[in-house]
Amino acid sequence: MDPRLRVLPGGCPAGRPVLTPMPMPDVEEIGPRDAGWEPARALFDASLDRWPSVVWRPYTAEAARRLIRSLQGQGLPFTLKSGGHSAAGLSVADAVPMVDLSRLRAVRVDPGGRLAYVQAGALMRHLDRAAARFGLATTGGTVSHTGVVGLACGGGLGWLMGRFGLACDNIAQAQVVQGGRDLVVDESSALMTTLRGSGTSLGFISGLVLRLHPVGQRFRWRAADLSVAELTELLPGLSERVQALPAEAGCALTLRSTPEGHVTGLVEVVAPDDSLAAPQWCATLATPGRWSARTLSYLEVQRHLDAEFEFGSRSYRRSLSVDAVVPACIGEVVDILRAPTPFWRTLTFDVLHGRAMAERNISSSCVPRRRYAGIAVCRWAEPTLDALGRSAGRELFAVLDAGHREANPARYGNYSSEPADSRYPPP
Ligand SMILES: Cc1cc2nc3c(=O)[nH]c(=O)nc-3n(C[C@H](O)[C@H](O)[C@H](O)COP(=O)(O)OP(=O)(O)OC[C@H]3O[C@@H](n4cnc5c(N)ncnc54)[C@H](O)[C@@H]3O)c2cc1C
Repeated sequence: MDPRLRVLPGGCPAGRPVLTPMPMPDVEEIGPRDAGWEPARALFDASLDRWPSVVWRPYTAEAARRLIRSLQGQGLPFTLKSGGHSAAGLSVADAVPMVDLSRLRAVRVDPGGRLAYVQAGALMRHLDRAAARFGLATTGGTVSHTGVVGLACGGGLGWLMGRFGLACDNIAQAQVVQGGRDLVVDESSALMTTLRGSGTSLGFISGLVLRLHPVGQRFRWRAADLSVAELTELLPGLSERVQALPAEAGCALTLRSTPEGHVTGLVEVVAPDDSLAAPQWCATLATPGRWSARTLSYLEVQRHLDAEFEFGSRSYRRSLSVDAVVPACIGEVVDILRAPTPFWRTLTFDVLHGRAMAERNISSSCVPRRRYAGIAVCRWAEPTLDALGRSAGRELFAVLDAGHREANPARYGNYSSEPADSRYPPP
């Protein structure tokens, strides 16, 4: 037998040899019979039940680079898992070794240079906390538990993107292990445009340097519940309104339906507490009395949706970016959402404006300039509903997609349950 092959006790399929360069210093090996196997192989989406051949968990950045160089050098297959949020489950595969980056979560901030040095497995909350000590932040997602590398290298939509661009626009440098070799990608490199939008296709990102920006101490989160009729009325004039959205404000519009088919609309706006333009803009959507508001720190803003998106939930999600929201299509979506099903379904449009539109190289990035990112999500609780839930999610997305053919649609692979959406260059 090839000396690199070993059979892991309890491995699946039973008796299948595992290709391995082990043992390696500072790398823990976790097999199916070890305590810690279940959390190690778990993905955010519990409907993705993957069984890797083995899990390797490096304890230092150098051990991780050494391990990946060795795997790449020998042409061995492996996956990388950081926060585990890949909706397509790209970070864990059946019968393939998985490298778990959960011990590499350090973030160092250089406040003078306004830079964050982020390790391969850090989550958004590690970055946000480290930067907040200096009153700094950069665009991140809307929850605190996604991995920084996956989010930023795949685009990175967040509340601050009107002011600072997408997360990927703020990548200053990356350390990459590719083809068994270390390389540095910075703004002088031709690989930077690939890194900003489809960076994880380049190889193992062992570290990222992100630009930080001063943000105020307090933010104001405003939300207005709208009936479907009110939301539908807003849609024809939405483009003009969105052009007037102040750059310092982030805005998301959502349609939600319960299993009973009760559909409601929600508009959320997050802006610095002292923004005068944000409340004025909100008043153009709904009278001031319709808005509820909370004052939050930036860290609280980043955490306030965490409870809604719990690790271990089950869902299908897929997204596209478009130049305009097509009102007729939203009418069709509402009809679908009104049908009773066992699912909670949402359609959210994140508004891209300000720096989110001005930055980015549109010729090669996976996140081309569009005004809206539309995200369709179908969620359920029971494992027995997995197949049905996925097909309900696909049906919802198909209507969204077909209805936006004239709106210059592009896929947002970072937020998709379909593995093909993450392929770069797109098929
Ligand atoms: C609940 C939820 C909320 C989200 N909110 C947002 C949002 O607000 N804005 C937004 O833009 N996106 C959002 N996303 C999408 C999310 O940013 C992407 O799924 C991202 O890729 C997740 O990264 P991760 O490390 O958590 O996931 P993982 O599954 O661990 O990794 C995702 C991909 O990146 C690869 N990868 C991870 N680390 C590395 C590394 N160091 N080097 C090379 N490859 C690596 C993995 O192999 C995998 O292919 C959300 C997703 C979920 C499930």
